[in-house]
Amino acid sequence: MRDLVIIGSGPAGYTAAIYGARADLKPLVIASSVAMGGDLMTTTDVDNFPGFPEGVMGPDLMMGMQAQAERFGAELLFDDATKLELSGPVKRITVGNGDVIEAKTVVLSMGSEYRKLGLEDETRLSGFGVSWCATCDGAFFRNRAVAVIGGGDSAMEEATFLTRFAETVYIVHRSDQFRASAAMLSRAKADPKIQFITGAVVDGILGAETVAGISLTNTDGSTRVLDIEGLFIAIGSDPRTSLVADQVELTPEGNIAVAGRSSVTSIPGVFAAGDIIDPTYRQAVVAAGSGAVAALDAQHYLESNTH
Ligand code: NDP
Repeated sequence: MRDLVIIGSGPAGYTAAIYGARADLKPLVIASSVAMGGDLMTTTDVDNFPGFPEGVMGPDLMMGMQAQAERFGAELLFDDATKLELSGPVKRITVGNGDVIEAKTVVLSMGSEYRKLGLEDETRLSGFGVSWCATCDGAFFRNRAVAVIGGGDSAMEEATFLTRFAETVYIVHRSDQFRASAAMLSRAKADPKIQFITGAVVDGILGAETVAGISLTNTDGSTRVLDIEGLFIAIGSDPRTSLVADQVELTPEGNIAVAGRSSVTSIPGVFAAGDIIDPTYRQAVVAAGSGAVAALDAQHYLESNTH
């Protein structure tokens, strides 16, 4: 039986692994079969992680965290947790290959998943012009017109990145109030390739086989079609709680509930860290800090539950 199993390999999971390994808990990280390293693996420059005065590429940051965790003895399993049985002193984690791993403590750090617009053609055209990742798919739209939906930092970041390839990048936002930070908003506003369309809701995606445009309804009720070939959806994300929602207490926002500033969940021996507990800050450095908290909480739990 494992002392500590960590589910998720973003900044929270890897930091929990570094702390857990240094405490000699020999953690196992269930690192995912496809998305190891989390969202930062599909990001370019990370300019706000302390200690990197010139910035760092997202994948380099994550591979550094992984190497650091492994250096202290953390083990990684590149598979997905498919079922979690968390009540009782022995936690059971089923993974994609059918193996069941038993653990005394579990850290839940599965992060969040991108929100969808909820339009009929969104899934059909996903991968055929509809994308949630500019760094993954931006290069397909060289000299084309694309639209980014959203008004937060993600939308600004995606749009700015897309100007490397696209001829025109429209940022389409449903209001004229932006959640994006002043710095990222003004960088996008200053970019000659970016055009803002505010007060417009996307109500349809056009195109038989690939995206050919989007239909917009403005706040005054008027409608228009915007001719674009790429649609990048950047409207935020929701905590990835489907494996645990029926077992652990959630907050009204849908995050895993933790006690105060700790990582302690409603289930003894189960701790949570990173975006999955955070409706507010959602920064890599905050997730990393919360991963450290979770490993320390797991360590204290194990120390006070030795029989
Ligand atoms: P946010 O929640 O900040 O913004 C989501 C945006 O999408 C809002 O403008 C919202 O509009 C809009 N939106 C939500 N749902 C819909 C919908 N159904 N249809 C149309 N528009 C919709 O999410 P982000 O992903 O942008 O950012 C999340 C967090 O990550 C933030 O804390 C951000 O600071 C951080 N981040 C930081 C980065 C950095 O520092 N480099 C880069 C990227 C993200 P409305 O305002 O009207 O609700």
